[in-house]
Amino acid sequence: MTTCDIIVPCYNEQEVLNTFYTETKKVTDSMKDYAFTFIMVDDGSHDRTAEIMKELAAEHSDVRYISFSRNFGKEAAMYAGLTHSTGDLVIIMDADLQHPPTMIPVMMKGIKEGYECAAAMRATREGEKRLSSLFSSLFYKISNSLTEIKMPQNAVDFRIMRRTMVDAILKLSEVERFSKGIFAWVGFKTKWYPYENVERTLGTTKWSFKSLFRYAMLGITGFSTVPLKWLSFLGVLMCGVAFVYTLITVIRWLLPGIAVSANAPLICVILFVGGILELSMGILGEYVAHIFRETKNRPIYLIRQTNIETDKLLH
Ligand code: UDP
Ligand code: MG
Repeated sequence: MTTCDIIVPCYNEQEVLNTFYTETKKVTDSMKDYAFTFIMVDDGSHDRTAEIMKELAAEHSDVRYISFSRNFGKEAAMYAGLTHSTGDLVIIMDADLQHPPTMIPVMMKGIKEGYECAAAMRATREGEKRLSSLFSSLFYKISNSLTEIKMPQNAVDFRIMRRTMVDAILKLSEVERFSKGIFAWVGFKTKWYPYENVERTLGTTKWSFKSLFRYAMLGITGFSTVPLKWLSFLGVLMCGVAFVYTLITVIRWLLPGIAVSANAPLICVILFVGGILELSMGILGEYVAHIFRETKNRPIYLIRQTNIETDKLLH
């Protein structure tokens, strides 16, 4: 029997957690080939979420829970769930029933077909505020153009993954986590399943514009060093302008009958100094980019399959 862990990050979800469990259980009970275990992660909730988890765990043998000492954020909750999972398959889904449990058997087909991951994406962004929709598409455009990883715009954190992919994700031990980027970074074959967006009926969203903006910035700066390279480019551009401006000034000065402004030498110096400063920052930026990549300590490669017994190797 294939074992499958369902990881559920929860922050102040007392209104919905019981319903989530019964609704999801209805679906998983109908899937006889799999043994499901729920790993509920209480992300330092201030309401009864943790107590509800304990009650569920006392009543049902398939419920495990982890309760954080304070609110560490959804990323930390997902990571904790993944590190504590042992299943052949792992599902990550929200507690608020915005990720329909009925999608589980549908997505499982992708895994059966041999995909390492079956992930959900919103078919439409209906029901979402126009402004947040606009910002979201802007974020994906910028991020996808700056980084080598390509994230589909409507992807959500609702997916089924095989153990190989989960282990790969856990090898990325960075503290500042941006899962959508990490999922894309590790690669593996992913099948996408569109679903109709469901409005949250119980509880409230935990995201504010500020927290989303911060998260989006992390998504870009956590995966791309391109902005640092812009500094060098700007520096070179500015030095170029300084050179041309100086050349024109000297020619005008040499030609008879053309008055050169007394400020011209000063402007030349300012442009040059500015350009050199920018270029120096760019060079520093290149080294910072190296440090950034080294400290992330990401794996140099990830294996999909091999017939070499990797356990016996030193690394
Ligand atoms: N969540 C969490 N920690 C947080 C914020 C959210 O574990 O600090 C959980 C939350 O309980 C829910 C999921 O992450 O299960 C998605 O949160 P939410 O529904 O607020 O986000 P939205 O659906 O609006 O993007
Ligand atoms: Mg939600």
